[in-house]
Amino acid sequence: MARLLLIEDDLSIRTPLIRALRERGHAVAAAHTAMNGLQHALDDRPDLVVLDLGLPDLDGLEMLRMLRAVSRVPVIIATARDDEREIVRGLDAGADDYVVKPFTAAQLDARIRAVLRRGAGEPVDSAVTVGALHIDVRARQVSLAGTGLELTPREFDLLHYLAARAGQVVTKRELLTEVWQVPYGGADKTVDVHLSWLRRKLGETAGAPRYLHTVRGVGVRLDDPDAVP
Ligand code: CA
Repeated sequence: MARLLLIEDDLSIRTPLIRALRERGHAVAAAHTAMNGLQHALDDRPDLVVLDLGLPDLDGLEMLRMLRAVSRVPVIIATARDDEREIVRGLDAGADDYVVKPFTAAQLDARIRAVLRRGAGEPVDSAVTVGALHIDVRARQVSLAGTGLELTPREFDLLHYLAARAGQVVTKRELLTEVWQVPYGGADKTVDVHLSWLRRKLGETAGAPRYLHTVRGVGVRLDDPDAVP
């Protein structure tokens, strides 16, 4: 059983979904606007939020960005927009998963359980250090040779994922699955773009890499540039 917050303005979806999720043993609170949902999410601290993107007062993605600035609560986007760009934007904005309308309560429930399992089952090292790069996982802060770096949440997750596997080649497919949580069909370009932003912040380029090494046709590997081979 989980404490869920459903943010959905459409009564014909909200009412049966609340009932079906309650029948599956969840405690469900609901909000029908983005601002009301944000308030609920902060006050009631649900285990997971199900968020409709088409809301009357504010776009669901905007609301998600506001929520992500202050909370790590798992979010599943429920969207009628099945175009891939919209879904990628949602995942980039910090959603944990998505369902495309029309979806069944059984499908949503399975996604909810999967997201909650993922959150619970991950033992996370509190810090990762590779050479002069130091990642404080709990505080979500990164420093390079003692200087703090300003990373977006996605850049942080990407760097953390690679640093935790330093010396190993990680495929773009794996990054899309594990960092973006796009189960299939995600765009490699999304990874490339974030890697180039990350390189800039680390003060390096693809042509003269220090930490981030592209392995052509395979993926990317994070190395300690100062390690003696
Ligand atoms: Ca709607």
